[in-house]
Formats: sequence, C-alpha cells, structure tokens
Amino acid sequence: MKSIFGPVNSRRFGSSLGIDLSPALKQCNFDCLYCELAPSATTDKQANVVEVATIINELREHLNDKIDVITITANGEPTLYPYLDELIDALNKIKNSTQTLILTNSATLVDEKVFNSLLKLDQVKLSLDAVTDNVFKRIDRPHVGIKIEEIVKKAIEFSHIYKGKLFIEILFVHGLNDTKEEIEKLNEVLLKMDVTRVDLGTIDRPPAYPVVGLSYKELHDASLLFDASLPIHIASRVHAEPNNRAYDDEEILNTLDKRPQTIEDINLLFDEESKKRFQKLLSESKIVTKKVGNLEFFILHANEQRKRAK
Ligand code: SF4
Repeated sequence: MKSIFGPVNSRRFGSSLGIDLSPALKQCNFDCLYCELAPSATTDKQANVVEVATIINELREHLNDKIDVITITANGEPTLYPYLDELIDALNKIKNSTQTLILTNSATLVDEKVFNSLLKLDQVKLSLDAVTDNVFKRIDRPHVGIKIEEIVKKAIEFSHIYKGKLFIEILFVHGLNDTKEEIEKLNEVLLKMDVTRVDLGTIDRPPAYPVVGLSYKELHDASLLFDASLPIHIASRVHAEPNNRAYDDEEILNTLDKRPQTIEDINLLFDEESKKRFQKLLSESKIVTKKVGNLEFFILHANEQRKRAK
C-alpha cells in the first residue's frame, strides 16, 4: 500500500503532495460522526506502522518544484504514527523550499513529544469542532480518556509558541456544534489564540453516520457570530447556493468590515450590479486585497493595518 498520494490542488494550501501515515486501514483516536471513512473503533496507538525509510524513499520519487506543500495526513489521525518526530526531521532535510503541513484532530497536543514535533513544521492545521465536553463527545466521539479542556489548553499554548502558519478548522454538523452557545464558546477560545486563519467547513462528502451539514447561508450566518477581528474563512462551498442580493456601497463596505471575503464569497453574495460597485470600490482602493495563507481576501483599506495575520 503506497503512502504517497497526489499531488492534489488544494484551494487552501496549494499544490499538495500527501503522505498517508496509515495507508492500509483507519487508525484514529476519534470516530467523528462526519468522518468520510467508515465508522471504526477508536485507538490511541497505531498497530499497523510504515517505516520512515519507506516513506522517504517513496517521497523522493515524487518531490519536484511544482509542489507547494508536503501534507502529512492519514486514514485516521497522523500524530498516532510512532515515528512522527523522526519523519519530520527527515522531511526537513530533503524538502528544500517546499512547505510541510500536518492535518491533525489536535487530541495528541497533550503529548509533549507530539507537541514539540509539530513545532518543527511550516504549517499546522488543528481541528477544533467543539470546546464543551458534551458537544465534543457527541460530534468527535473520542477515545476514552481524551478531554477537550486539556486539548483546548494545549492548542492555545501551541498557538503562542509556534512560529509557522497555524490554521484552525471547525467542521459544523447541523444541530450539534452550530448552536449560538457553542459558537460563543469557540469564539472565546479563538480570541485567546494567535492563528493565521480559521476555516469554517461542513459535511462535503458522505459521512460515516447519518448527520447533515449546514447550507452556505447557515455557515455564513455562523461566521458572523465570531468576533470581527478573527481571520474567519468559509471553506466549504459544496452546499453553496448564490445569495446574489443587491448591496449599495455602504453595505459592501460594512460587509467587508465585518468579515473579509474571498472572490468566491463575493460571487455568491452580490448580484451583478453590486459586483460592479465592488470593483469600483476596489479601483478606488477603498477595498484592498490581503493574502492569508494561500488565500486572497478583500478587506477594507482602513482595516489593513488593524487586522493581524501571522
Ligand atoms: S479525526 Fe479525522 S479520521 Fe479520525 S474520525 Fe475524525 S474525521 Fe475521521
């Protein structure tokens, strides 16, 4: 079973060559309701392990200049891989200017060895679907002994020490973590963190259990409940249905003041006349662009200095 896959073009992370640290079977410390893999019993260690040398040899055959990022992932949770630290050291020796990224569910940040290994990567994406015990357990169905308050504490600490680009992903499931109360608590935690971008997503692929995602409008409404200073991005567009409403100049500026938008957002939100008004404001430099991670956002010129970005 091959460990290397891709490259795939990721809108959020660029051209990505993937490393699957559990190519033969699902090995995960969560059993999320929305997982695109089949439901499975949770585990806190890998039983089926690929050698570091095997991965690196395979990777060398695929590494070339067109790759933006080497993404460490798994059928399951990649940080359960017992040689993660050795693998990251080996990657850092051969990657040249290519970035390294890991997609993790955050649970093993409480393990000092994993915490320190992740510090050596260029980019880290932490999932954080819920911050209250009850909602966390219902949506992510963690392995016994995993406590969300400990994960949150470590995620905040990590965000302050880490020098690379840190992305947070919240995946919303209808009726579970999309309540006003949970979003308020997520917001409180995010305000304590120093992050590059917060990606809001929902169920885009057939889930392991019978749960449903949010519509684009619901995601957009949820995004407005977060503090305007947070670099929130709606990452999920599968359920996007155009809003195409008329916005006057002031409404356009107010919308971007509340929340920076990508061109995809603009296309979904504004009708044709409003898009022309938007372009005019752009040509007058009342609106400017700002790159956050791999994505370009439109923000108010007045906010350019105010909004932080790692
Ligand atoms: S953490 Fe990822 S792999 Fe594990 S169950 Fe959740 S979605 Fe699936």
